[in-house]
Amino acid sequence: MNLVFLGPPGAGKGTQAERMCKKYGFMHISTGAMLREQIEAQTEIGKLAAELIDRGEFVPDDIVIAMVEEKVNCPAARHGVILDGFPRTIAQAKLLLERMSIDAAINIDVHTDCLVSRIISRRTCTACDIVYNVDDVPDGVCTKCGGALTIRHDDTPEVFKERLHIYTERTLPIINYCNENGILKTVNGNQSVEMVEKEIAEVIERLKK
Ligand code: AMP
Repeated sequence: MNLVFLGPPGAGKGTQAERMCKKYGFMHISTGAMLREQIEAQTEIGKLAAELIDRGEFVPDDIVIAMVEEKVNCPAARHGVILDGFPRTIAQAKLLLERMSIDAAINIDVHTDCLVSRIISRRTCTACDIVYNVDDVPDGVCTKCGGALTIRHDDTPEVFKERLHIYTERTLPIINYCNENGILKTVNGNQSVEMVEKEIAEVIERLKK
């Protein structure tokens, strides 16, 4: 089973993808995490990505598509994948649906007014990219791998505003596109992490039948 997680920045795509991968054995493919790895490794792609991400802009389609293609073709992807943060443009979405069988695009629907507070209280592990709320990690250390937690450069109110603007213009149309292709499933993201997790698991269970 191959799934796509859709939703604005701060909707909880990464958190929920992580939980579903643990529960069902999917491979988690996060384009944002892959780009942050490139930035950390100071590659040419990383240098370009850093500039764009810090402004809240998208990385060019060809770069992101090549990264995703490599991941989905590796053996660990055979048990199914969750694509988190991809597709983000209609061009990416069209290519994905042409080349890969996608069972569902799960849209985590959240009121935009609560997103900025989620984003500014977010802490991300520099080693494994897991996301926490600042209140849950008083010692600033990842409980999964012991890595240091940091505030992402793009998790500021200013950059968030731009990210939300670009999301609305370029990513939101994908929801319609997925609906037209009969793969859209929407869950209510305005609930506790556990309740959202339960709704997504129910969608997956129905798909398995
Ligand atoms: P994320 O971790 O998903 O919030 O992604 C962080 C940033 O990486 C985004 O704001 C974009 O700048 C970039 N990025 C991630 N995925 C994509 C994508 N599919 N297409 C273009 N840029 C992306």
